[in-house]
Amino acid sequence: MRKPDYYEVLGVPRDASQEEIKAAFRKLARQYHPDVNKDDPDAEEKFKLINEAYQVLSDPESRAVYDRFGHAGAPTAPAADSFSVAEDLFQMFFGRAAAPTRGPIDGADRRVDLTITLEEVLHGATHTIEVERLRTCPRCRGTGAEPGTTPERCPTCQGSGRIRHTQTTILGTITRVVPCDRCGGEGEIIRTPCRQCKGERLVVQRDTLSVTIPPGIEEETAILLRGEGDSGLRGGRDGDLYVVVHIAPHPRFRRRGDDLATQINLTYPQLVLGDEVEIETLDGKVSIEIPELTEPYSELILHGYGLPNPRTGKRGDLYVRIGLKMPKKLTDAQRNLLRQYAELSGVRLKKYAQAEPSSFFEKVKRSLRKED
Ligand SMILES: [Zn+2]
Ligand SMILES: [Zn+2]
Repeated sequence: MRKPDYYEVLGVPRDASQEEIKAAFRKLARQYHPDVNKDDPDAEEKFKLINEAYQVLSDPESRAVYDRFGHAGAPTAPAADSFSVAEDLFQMFFGRAAAPTRGPIDGADRRVDLTITLEEVLHGATHTIEVERLRTCPRCRGTGAEPGTTPERCPTCQGSGRIRHTQTTILGTITRVVPCDRCGGEGEIIRTPCRQCKGERLVVQRDTLSVTIPPGIEEETAILLRGEGDSGLRGGRDGDLYVVVHIAPHPRFRRRGDDLATQINLTYPQLVLGDEVEIETLDGKVSIEIPELTEPYSELILHGYGLPNPRTGKRGDLYVRIGLKMPKKLTDAQRNLLRQYAELSGVRLKKYAQAEPSSFFEKVKRSLRKED
């Protein structure tokens, strides 16, 4: 079977930066980690391939060889029939083993998304979040050995993790240092693996953490919980946890930076004559004065009823748009009074232009009688 292209494995372009390669690897490694894909038999193979691709592409030298020679030039995993032409090529170019040696491995960062309410933006909040992450095995405390036993020094490499390998090729005898295949370059052998982590040193854990949301937080703000990502291995640093905050849409208020906007609908008489009305704010009900002759769709501003600025704490304003509430139906009395009002305002309504003034006032009287 043809080996898939390493760039395709990681889903990055051939000119990807080291950062892009690292990011793609972290994402895929999380996705296909065998511990979180117990039901997917292919996950382990994919995980191995992702690792292999990363080993080659993350090292500028081995990447250069791979770019030039493809898989023929790339080092293969240390345990598998290692001493191939490919490795010889690599060895001739760089005079060292390309395969991984033991050393610290940093834990990956994790991300959790959290949705909060607008009220929580106003007051700030404390939330509990659930995060799935790889943490140091609590049973063996990360040694990989069952409690009561200790890892032994690898007798093949004397604990160095490397062995010398001498080989005769058409170019002569080549001696090189390769990772010890007995201990996988670890330098030690675990005879009794920890029962909980199977010697992996890390376990998948689902933990509940507390996160404090400061007042005034903006959409998509990430709160950093340092060291709360995956645990590092062999002294590598622990990854971080990013809690990315989203704000749920509010039925009544829209956010405009530190300001809020809302709308209330008032009747025509309220706009024309003025009124005092109660409106909802994030702080509760507030009474506001509607001045006489308020234009429909104008805005009133309530200073200090917006959201706190995340830096200064100073609160923004609430913009109240005054809409017009139309009646759903008219009674005869209402219709007639509005006709009178129109007439008094000098508005000639075409619809009633033919009606005789006398008969019109007759109708008004009749309908008023009907009302009482
Ligand atoms: Zn363990
Ligand atoms: Zn060894």
